[in-house]
Amino acid sequence: MPVADDDKTMAQPELRLCPHCQQEMLRWYTPPDSTWGTPYQYVCFNDECGYYQRGWEWMQTKYNKKASYRHRYNPYGGDSGPVPVWSVTALRERIIPEGMSYETYVMLQAAPRRGQA
Ligand SMILES: [Zn+2]
Repeated sequence: MPVADDDKTMAQPELRLCPHCQQEMLRWYTPPDSTWGTPYQYVCFNDECGYYQRGWEWMQTKYNKKASYRHRYNPYGGDSGPVPVWSVTALRERIIPEGMSYETYVMLQAAPRRGQA
């Protein structure tokens, strides 16, 4: 399991910028059951991003689906690609807040949540 400080973007902050819209991408907590095996990845959550905007049209035309994708960058392996979304808010619940450490985020995830049945 890679640790959070293997993140290449610590040394090269420009890697955090989305190549499609030049906005800073946000840390996105990788689902534990995903095949990526990374603590988190960077995802462009800019709703004005052309890549994401064109995605809606592409998915509609090609697959007749109401879906799109956002740009994803893996700071551990260095690979990037699309991550599918089905709504404007999809995936946002996994954004690690700015300034919060990965460890703190994981701890909060593990804590029981109030108001949940
Ligand atoms: Zn973007």
